Amino acid sequence: MTYDTQNIFAKILRGEIPCTKVYEDDHTIAFMDIMPKADGHTLVVPKAPSVNFLDAEPSTFAPLFSTVQKIARAVKTGMGAEGVVITQFNEAAAGQTVFHLHVHVIPRWEGVALRRHSGQMANVAQLQAHAEKIRAAL
Ligand code: AMP
Repeated sequence: MTYDTQNIFAKILRGEIPCTKVYEDDHTIAFMDIMPKADGHTLVVPKAPSVNFLDAEPSTFAPLFSTVQKIARAVKTGMGAEGVVITQFNEAAAGQTVFHLHVHVIPRWEGVALRRHSGQMANVAQLQAHAEKIRAAL
């Protein structure tokens, strides 16, 4: 698959469609997943274009995973989570639905099940409230 510059995360990166932003630096952006598997589910996206992990330039990974760690710590503290899952899907067969590399940071609590992947759309006010808690913990 070749990289499609019209994918939804490319549009977010260009500011053409909105997102509930948590963090941004020169190489990465983090924003709330609109169909969160748990409250506080955040996506970390490199600005460098690639379909997924498999075709990315190796130079993408150091700044990407530095931000993933920053966000994972803030998600855990800000959301008062007991743990954090970090996941990343490559190709449709593996569950990838948006074809610009991204990493999921998902807070977990003992006994709280995850919601369905790409399931229910969250309301914007709730996403903003969660983003605020995470930003405060950065
Ligand atoms: P993946 O299956 O890893 O490709 O996951 C893509 C994720 O992007 C899913 O969890 C979707 O809920 C999420 N998503 C899709 N569109 C948007 C959007 N416009 N803003 C934020 N998250 C999105």
